[in-house]
Amino acid sequence: MSSSSDPGHTGDCLFCRLVAGDVPAEVVEATDRSVAFRDVNPQAPTHVLVVPRAHHANAVELATGDPEALADVVRLADSVAEAEGLAGDYRLVFNTGAGAGQTVFHTHLHVLGGRPFTWPPG
Ligand code: 5GP
Ligand code: ZN
Repeated sequence: MSSSSDPGHTGDCLFCRLVAGDVPAEVVEATDRSVAFRDVNPQAPTHVLVVPRAHHANAVELATGDPEALADVVRLADSVAEAEGLAGDYRLVFNTGAGAGQTVFHTHLHVLGGRPFTWPPG
């Protein structure tokens, strides 16, 4: 039986389907553990999502279940930012929980850059 936190879960998860190639995406970079692709509704000149290939519902579940995969996600985010010419200036966001704006329950790290950002975020 699969659940939203089962690393093998793929059936009805959008980003599992995207990683599997069943949903089209503009992939910009990948490792054996993670995939980076452009957000379909960009909020900045660079807006890339980095996901682990295995299913974990959010950042905490990834950190707990596979810390090295979380590290791989963050390193790939930095590599994408470098390739996009962001020169070390970018924002990384894990929306965690519906109340904080998470809409896809497969861990994804937003990589945003190319414009000034305000703080606190909206
Ligand atoms: P969340 O709100 O869960 O933090 O972020 C989900 C993100 O996924 C949103 O920024 C949304 O634009 C993006 N997104 C939703 N569906 C798709 C899709 O099918 N393809 C791509 N590339 N991005 C998607
Ligand atoms: Zn998934």
